[in-house]
Amino acid sequence: PVVLGIETSCDETGVGIVADGVLLGDALATSMDEHARFGGVVPEIAARAHLHAVTPMVRHALDRAGIGFGDIDAVAATAGPGLATAVQVGLAAGKAYALSLGVPLYGVHHLAGHAAVDTLEHGPLPDRCVALIVSGGHTSLLLLGDLARDPVVHLGDTVDDAAGEAFDKVARLLGLPYPGGPAIDHTARDGNPTAIAFPRPMTGPHDPPYRFSFSGLKTAVARWVEKHDDGAVPVADVAASFQEAVADTVTRKALAACRDHQVDTLLLVGGVAANSRVRALAEHRCADAGVRLRVPSPRLCTDNGAMIAAVGDLLIRADVTPDRLDLGADPSAVLHGALLQGLRP
Ligand code: ATP
Ligand code: MG
Ligand code: FE
Repeated sequence: PVVLGIETSCDETGVGIVADGVLLGDALATSMDEHARFGGVVPEIAARAHLHAVTPMVRHALDRAGIGFGDIDAVAATAGPGLATAVQVGLAAGKAYALSLGVPLYGVHHLAGHAAVDTLEHGPLPDRCVALIVSGGHTSLLLLGDLARDPVVHLGDTVDDAAGEAFDKVARLLGLPYPGGPAIDHTARDGNPTAIAFPRPMTGPHDPPYRFSFSGLKTAVARWVEKHDDGAVPVADVAASFQEAVADTVTRKALAACRDHQVDTLLLVGGVAANSRVRALAEHRCADAGVRLRVPSPRLCTDNGAMIAAVGDLLIRADVTPDRLDLGADPSAVLHGALLQGLRP
């Protein structure tokens, strides 16, 4: 079946077309630049941008896939979590396409998309794996089984900021542009990751092993910058040292989860999985531990439409009942039940 996927939970308008595990084409628009001067995403601006972009992106993705509206067998749209008005635009568009084409609609949990997108490049996931989701709004370690059937086991989440949020906030205090993650990644290339020993939060012997905390790390960076604010802050060294602290912390915990649960596959996903140092350290540590690492290409780590189409494709192939057209957006949707079921009780 050919699935049209629509993602509008934040500032990316993503559309993807997937058929039986294969990405046929996708298109992406972003309102990123419009938020830059505010230092973060402004929901009303994002929602308006989705309204303008969603129809053209659907046409674009269809063109790239070389198919027409008549070839679509199902529509999948992000129903949450995300910015309420932003999610609503994409979900409403998805409903309209489903209704007018006479095909089923699937409301998709955004984080299920981040995980499922990896199947487009690396095939079906194994029976069990540990998933580390590191994104702009979430940082979670999950134990995954059968994506359509087995309930997601939450090993641990962040107790305060998400990893991506920490990148964005630290970039801001270093005077780097929004979004901060890519800016820090780029700047860190010229820096020394061992220049400053920033803390590795929640990694002490008495700390919960699978929980994360990043607000203290952000504060440590802020204090260091204040103390050295004589016009000569070595931005590249601070960026590299901060990035090293995040990469060290998240990969250490992910590998501990694999070891403790005797799982031989680590799935690394979400926007921060695009980070070059997080990827390199995960590769290195997985190789040492005999763990197979699965991580999508950087462009599929950040928000996109293919990830939502990938979930729709897996749902339809697992014979899951589609959603009704009165499905509501759920801006704070929690991942419960099986990964693909996401929003279904
Ligand atoms: P969520 O998925 O939790 O709802 P989101 O959709 O806003 O949040 P994503 O698109 O998954 O988040 O990821 C965006 C985040 O990833 C931002 O915080 C951004 O700074 C970060 N990010 C993107 N690229 C990189 C990179 N190369 N290095 C570090 N962080 C990055
Ligand atoms: Mg974004
Ligand atoms: Fe996301």
